[in-house]
Amino acid sequence: MAKSQFLVNLDAMIIRADFAQTTGNDNSSEIIDRISIADFTTGLTGRLLRKPDFQRETNHWTPAQFFSLLECFINGDLIPSVILWKSPTFLFVIDGGHRLSVLKAWVEDDYGDGPLSLKYFGDSISSNQKKAAERTRKLVADTFGTYQHIKTKLENQEIDAKVSSVLTRALPVQWVKGDAEKAEASFFRINTQGTPLDEIEHSLLEFRKRPIAISARAIIRAGKGHKYWSNFSDENTVVIEDLSKKLHYNLFDPETTSPIKTLDLPLGGSKGIRAALQILINYLSITCLTQTDKDIKIDYGIDDATGDETINVLRKAQKVTSRITGNDNGSLGLHPAIYFYGPSGVHSAPLFLGTTKFIAEKLANNDGEFFKHFTKVRSKIEDFLIVHKDLIATVLQKQGSNKRVNIYSKIIDQIYLAFKNNQTVTEQNIIDWALLTGKIFVGNEKNTSSNFSDEAKSRIFIYSTLKNAPKCPICQGYIDSEKSISYDHIERVEDGGLGNYENGQLTHPYCNQSIKN
Ligand SMILES: [Zn+2]
Repeated sequence: MAKSQFLVNLDAMIIRADFAQTTGNDNSSEIIDRISIADFTTGLTGRLLRKPDFQRETNHWTPAQFFSLLECFINGDLIPSVILWKSPTFLFVIDGGHRLSVLKAWVEDDYGDGPLSLKYFGDSISSNQKKAAERTRKLVADTFGTYQHIKTKLENQEIDAKVSSVLTRALPVQWVKGDAEKAEASFFRINTQGTPLDEIEHSLLEFRKRPIAISARAIIRAGKGHKYWSNFSDENTVVIEDLSKKLHYNLFDPETTSPIKTLDLPLGGSKGIRAALQILINYLSITCLTQTDKDIKIDYGIDDATGDETINVLRKAQKVTSRITGNDNGSLGLHPAIYFYGPSGVHSAPLFLGTTKFIAEKLANNDGEFFKHFTKVRSKIEDFLIVHKDLIATVLQKQGSNKRVNIYSKIIDQIYLAFKNNQTVTEQNIIDWALLTGKIFVGNEKNTSSNFSDEAKSRIFIYSTLKNAPKCPICQGYIDSEKSISYDHIERVEDGGLGNYENGQLTHPYCNQSIKN
C-alpha cells in the first residue's frame, strides 16, 4: 500500500483531445515510423501528440519503472513500439502513453511537479505526487543526469556513448489505419489485454459521458486537470468548476499525514490514492438517491451533452454535503474523527459512505424532523461510536466489501432509532444489526515490538486530543472547528443580546440556526 502511493504522475505530458471531434481519417501512406527525443524538443511531432480524452490518467508507473524505461532507452535495449492513430489534425496515442510521457518528462525535467504539471493541476498536486516526482528526479540525476546535462555536453562537443545514444535512439511507431471508430475499438482492445484496466477505470471509460463519471473526475482535481467538460457552454463550465472545487475542499482537504497529528481530517480520506475516485463514484451515487431510485451506479442518467446533467449531480452532492459539513445553516458539522475514521485513525470508506447514506436517505424522504431528533441524541451516538469503534470495524470486516456501506448505514440508523426511543444499545445489538451470528472476538493485534506503529500513534493522538476537543453547548456533540462552526449569541439578538465576546459561544451551524431559534 505504502509503495503504491508513490506513482509518478505524468498526466500533464501529453494532453487530451476528443477523438470524435475529428472527422474523416488520414490514410497517407508515408508517415513517420519513429519518435525520438528530438521530437520533444526541436522537432514538432511531439506537439501533435494527443491522448484520447477517455484515457485513464498517466500515473501508473513507479519511479523505478520510469527509471527502467529511460535506462532501456539510453542503453539501446529493446522497447516495444508505440501505437498511434493519425486523425486529420493530431497523432493520438493508442498504446504507449507512459513510454512517450517518460521521454517528454525527462526533456522537460517535469516528473509531476514541474512547470507543465503546475499549469495543468493547479494547486491540487498532492504531497505524494510531489514525493514521487522528487524520488524520480533524484534517481535520474544520480545516474544518467538530466536532459539539460546531456545538452550541455553536446554544446561543448563532449560527445560520449550516452550523448550519442540519446541523439540517435527512437521509439518505433506502429499505425492504426481507419477512422475514429476503428481507432477507439483498437484502443479498448489493446488496453483490456496488455495492461488490464481495473474495475474503476473500466467503468470510468465505459460511462465517461455520464454525469457521475464527469463529476467524479472534476471533483478529484478540484475542477482542474483535463477538462472532461470542455464541450459544455462557458456558463455551465463555470458552475461545474465552482461546485467541484467546493466539493473537493469539503471532502478532501486538508491532506492527511501518517501518523495523524491533527483532528482537522478530510471527510473523504486521502486524495492521493486511487481509491479516492472509487469513493467519489460511490459518494455521488448515494447523494443522487431519491425516494424511488435507491440503486444508483456510475451508469446513472444519460450521456451528458450540455453539462446540465453533471450540474444536477454536483448540486445533489452539494446539498447532502452541506448537511454533513461546512458552515451553511443546516450543517450538522459531523466530526470526521468520530464518524468517518476507524479505530486506528485510518479513514474508513464504509463509515464515511454509510453515514452519508443514512443522512441522504432522510433528505430523500423529506424527513423534516430527522435533524431535530438526531441532534437530541447526538452526544449519545458519538459517545457510543467512540467506545465501540473496534466492534463496529470488526463486524464490517466480516462482510463482503460491497455490503459494508449498506450494513453500516443500517447500523447507524438503528443506533439513532434506539437512542431516540430512549433505549440502550448493547454490543449484541450491533452484531445482530450486522446480520451476524455467534460471538465476535474483538481484539487488537498483539504488538511484539516496543515501538509504536503509525496506526498506534494515530490512535493515541485521536483519543488524547478528542478529550479536549470543543463540544457544542447546545447538543453536547463534538465540533469540527476547522470546517463547521457557528458563533452563537448566548442571549439571542432578538432578546437584546449583543456581539460582545462574553455573549458568544461556538456551536454547530445547525444547532445555532434551528435548535435555538
Ligand atoms: Zn450542536
